[in-house]
Amino acid sequence: MVAERFESALWETSSLLLADGSEAVLIDPAVSADEVARIAGRVSELGVRVTHVLATHADWDHVCGIAAFPDAAATMTEATAARLVARTAETPVAERAARSGVEIAGEPRVDGTFTPGAALQAGPFLLETIALPGHTPDGTAFRCRELDLLAVGDHLSTIEFPFASSTAAYRGTLAALIELLRRDPPARVVPGHGPELTAREAQAIAEADLAYLWELHAAVTAGATREKAREAGLAVELPRPAADDLAGAKAANVEAALDERFG
Ligand SMILES: [Zn+2]
Repeated sequence: MVAERFESALWETSSLLLADGSEAVLIDPAVSADEVARIAGRVSELGVRVTHVLATHADWDHVCGIAAFPDAAATMTEATAARLVARTAETPVAERAARSGVEIAGEPRVDGTFTPGAALQAGPFLLETIALPGHTPDGTAFRCRELDLLAVGDHLSTIEFPFASSTAAYRGTLAALIELLRRDPPARVVPGHGPELTAREAQAIAEADLAYLWELHAAVTAGATREKAREAGLAVELPRPAADDLAGAKAANVEAALDERFG
């Protein structure tokens, strides 16, 4: 059995190649056309056939490699499929990628969907699927018992901090992940960005991120007006250092917390 992580030069984005026997499954093959071609090259080298390409969520950096695997079933949750279609109608994935100076394999497609919470047979693997709303409404984790591995999409990253579309949902997701990591820990945790972690390392990140989101919540809740609350929210420190270009994401978290508090 094979479980290999590939890392993109853009945001240390993770791609996973899982293989057993003559079949393989890819999770979030990314990011540039060249990087995805390297993954396809490894697939050829192993002499396996990719049956499924899975996506942890519909953000462009996680679906931009699907086109390089036309014979595999591009499979994702109904929510991810719907979000992907809506986002692509708004702005093609290639255009979003071009803004980050990246050329991609092509526009993604959807061949099949599933409901998170039920196991999914993907090629040789029976994968458990877990809904993880928070970063986006459609986040999904994949757990492979045979490989003792959990892919969590854009949560639990050592090189980022929470990017929350909903601060309330993100707190719930982190609380659930902490429980999972404590009670039923996998050997390997693969975040969507940054290095692979042990369950213990992942739990420490989850706890720090949850503490940050509660601090943000407390700061915003104490603000009598939206403006005062925004000021207090912006003063909350991030759980770890992050790249300069992520200042916008910090401000977006404050806006999400303001929405939670004031509507
Ligand atoms: Zn991402």
